[in-house]
Amino acid sequence: MNLKLLSFAVVFFCLPVTTLFANDFQLPEKLPPHPRIYLTEKRMGEIKALMKTDPFMEQQVKALQSKAARLLVDFKKGGQLNEDKERTSANRYGLLRYQFPDGMRLLGVSWMCIVRVTTFAFVYRLTGEQEYADAAISEMLNVCRFPDWHPVHFLDTAEMAAGVALGYDWLYNVIPVAKRTEIRKALIKHGLNPGNDFYENKRHWAASASNWNEVCNNGMIQAVLAIADEEREAAGKTFKYALESMPLGLSVYAPEGTYPEGGNYWNYGTLASCMTIAALQDVVGSDLGFLNTPGFKTTGDFFMGIIRPDFWYFNYSDCPDEALPNPAMFYLSRVYNRPDYAAWLCDFVKTKNYYQIWNENSREGDESFRDYDRWAVLRAVWYNPEAVGADFTSTPLAKHFSGKQDLAVMRTAWKDREAAFAALKAGSNRSGHCHLDIGTFVYDVHGYRWAVDLGRDMASYRVGGNPWRLFRLINRGHNTFLISDSLQNRYASCQIIKFESNGKDFTGRAVADISDAYAGQVKSAIRTATLKKDGTLIIEDQIEGAVDKVRWAMITPAGIQINGKNAILTQGDKKVIVTLQSGEITQFEQLPTTPTFDYENPNEGYTMLAAFATPNKGKINIKVTLKP
Ligand SMILES: [Zn+2]
Repeated sequence: MNLKLLSFAVVFFCLPVTTLFANDFQLPEKLPPHPRIYLTEKRMGEIKALMKTDPFMEQQVKALQSKAARLLVDFKKGGQLNEDKERTSANRYGLLRYQFPDGMRLLGVSWMCIVRVTTFAFVYRLTGEQEYADAAISEMLNVCRFPDWHPVHFLDTAEMAAGVALGYDWLYNVIPVAKRTEIRKALIKHGLNPGNDFYENKRHWAASASNWNEVCNNGMIQAVLAIADEEREAAGKTFKYALESMPLGLSVYAPEGTYPEGGNYWNYGTLASCMTIAALQDVVGSDLGFLNTPGFKTTGDFFMGIIRPDFWYFNYSDCPDEALPNPAMFYLSRVYNRPDYAAWLCDFVKTKNYYQIWNENSREGDESFRDYDRWAVLRAVWYNPEAVGADFTSTPLAKHFSGKQDLAVMRTAWKDREAAFAALKAGSNRSGHCHLDIGTFVYDVHGYRWAVDLGRDMASYRVGGNPWRLFRLINRGHNTFLISDSLQNRYASCQIIKFESNGKDFTGRAVADISDAYAGQVKSAIRTATLKKDGTLIIEDQIEGAVDKVRWAMITPAGIQINGKNAILTQGDKKVIVTLQSGEITQFEQLPTTPTFDYENPNEGYTMLAAFATPNKGKINIKVTLKP
């Protein structure tokens, strides 16, 4: 295989034609010279050339340089600080320490390692400034001398392995020989060996379909491809296992790329899989058929689809509302010849000025926000200038994404930040990180979200026991029905049964059969969401076989003024008029969103616009119109 064929410019135009042959694949005898994963000498040359002619690349690289400079100042400060500095500070200054920033996991340290090593290595390769190479190498050696990479929580191990492996490859030519050996041995001892234990015993992520599988296999593959020529036996063993395990993680994309665990975990898992496949293309000369995975080809449509015009997620499952400019979209754009993905990501980065994300960018004050963008270097690596002029506004305005989390999204425009956006979710109550939220919807217009999903509650990560007591995780805390304060059927699986787009006066209409979510509570429940071209959202419900009162609800951050079956919602100087038509309901009510337990998110600033429907011979018909 001529390795030049692997250059991104060529890959961009080559749709994958292979079928999966990973199971029989052996590591080639001879591998390309270092640096061989992503940041080859050739790609580095392209980046340097593009910086001079392409404004996006110039901005992206400048942002990485200023980030590196800022990180280096903190890194050098280490020696001047007391040991008893509080934990996060201790990991901000000086060499990283073996500690669990959140009390449970080494993951935060692994993420910092990725940020430092990849950013320092990138800037060294760009500028030749030795202090960046020195800092990256000392950080790599430092973590290699840790007692372990916390394999009990294997994400910590896998992420650390990926960061160290890429640093090893990118800086190979300037790492002294003895130190190279030390890093390789640590990648085996702390990374591959504990990984093999999971593979051989078919434990946890190695034998299950979730973001964990994607992230952990990525860490193992990066380590393998970085050291395989010098550590052939150890690398070959893990390589075989990882290739066997990967199809499980990738199986979640079938049939259309909808991600079962929501947008935030799409970020995590999909970027990891893109990294794995891209590294295989660079080093062994083939995607081994993984790009033919059902649904992977269109998963970029899903990501674009669930993000509203000013870049918040439809945040079903455990997901914050702020979206991230995932470099995976540049990669997917290249390999599937989808310039609209890249054009959309450029628009996202430019609009939000997210060439580099810092904590202060986070609306939610999320400490990890910066670290979520730890692979920012890959935006420079995978950026394709040929996509810049591409038009993403002709991507369909409304779409049904079938899959385990069956859902529909609709918008009135792609680029107008004030455009209306709505989403309706059917789907499953049995996916990882899911909430009991079948039938829920969100609605945005004028740059505000009027009907919200409250998103994840970090308490569900910390508190053991029954998650179906937390307000944000159950139907009581979602824009769907609550009947006699009962939970939805925890095993329910529901579909969008009819979907139309681009009608005469509507951009999208989705009909969800959510009966299974209320099995035993009603006979049938059908919810229809229609987003009209003028931005009006209509939610229509038909319930049969109801015995008890049914609560209709919509959680909002807006001010609410109720007048019987009408309500005026206000945010800033914008209003949405809500009108209710139903023979079974007499009026709207305003309910608090206060949770039961003090360890839950207090949901400050939110109110529930609700209405109680008394069935008439078992039937309830509701039509709610939200008009901007
Ligand atoms: Zn939710």
